[in-house]
Amino acid sequence: MFSYRHAFHAGNHADVLKHTVWLAILERLMQKDKGLMLVDTHAGAGVYALKGEAASTSGEAEHGIAALLNHDGDLPDPLQRYVEVLQAFNAGKSHITHYPGSPALSAQLLREQDQLQVFEVHPTDQRHLRNWAQNHAAAKRIRMHQADGFAGTKSLLPPPTRRGALLCDPSYELKSDYAHVAQWLQDGLLRFATGVFAIWIPQIARLEANELPRRLRTIAQKAQKPWLHALLQVRGHNSTAPGGGLSGSSMFIVNPTFELHEQLQSTLPLLVKALGQDDHARFELTRG
Ligand code: SAM
Repeated sequence: MFSYRHAFHAGNHADVLKHTVWLAILERLMQKDKGLMLVDTHAGAGVYALKGEAASTSGEAEHGIAALLNHDGDLPDPLQRYVEVLQAFNAGKSHITHYPGSPALSAQLLREQDQLQVFEVHPTDQRHLRNWAQNHAAAKRIRMHQADGFAGTKSLLPPPTRRGALLCDPSYELKSDYAHVAQWLQDGLLRFATGVFAIWIPQIARLEANELPRRLRTIAQKAQKPWLHALLQVRGHNSTAPGGGLSGSSMFIVNPTFELHEQLQSTLPLLVKALGQDDHARFELTRG
């Protein structure tokens, strides 16, 4: 049984990076009317109470979304939109008490012509996710799968409209997740060559984690698809961690949306400034 619970990490610096990138992708894709299929392979619980027991125990959101909201001054467009979507999710309040996980963020933007497919394997998070999905105004367009998101994606591709985006956000609790992510991308591109594939990668001292961006680059290059890699490191790897053990993370995107690179060029320096915890805070943005 998995022990990872996203409730302890909701709204941390990794969520801020991942969800800002994901929203920027969705908003660009939604500039066209044709319906989209959104796939969330590792959905989590859906919504998280920031004052709930798990989030309060870890304090990670304090150094993530709370630090961003406390930042003085203008935000670049993608971050401004992210904050607006969070505020809309909290009924227009500037004070954010509930943090929307990736399925809830996607659902916030979902149009009549779109559909959202979410996968989750943990029984507790499945229960929360099901409650959230069933009570959502767009419930009819949200399909929940109590199944492995890596394997389950295959039968969904390509989407009927041939338009879609996929978020792959494993907890990497299992060493095999790294190989599964690479295989998932390779299989996904064979079935849906024009899809936008967004993958979250932790920055941790583990060979498989260090090698994953290179493996994904090779897969994208062999498929002759453009890719983009955005990394946000908030502190040195060895410094003690206020609010969580992760020093950084990255998003690897294949078939990035138009101007995503430019959007991240303005976003990442601000994130370093707002969320950076020591002199080692930095970003990297590469593409091919
Ligand atoms: N994507 C969510 C978000 O941004 O709000 C967070 C997801 S969390 C990092 C990873 C989730 O994947 C956990 O809830 C875990 O139970 C679930 N999980 C682990 N292995 C899975 C698998 N093979 N298929 C689907 N879900 C899985």
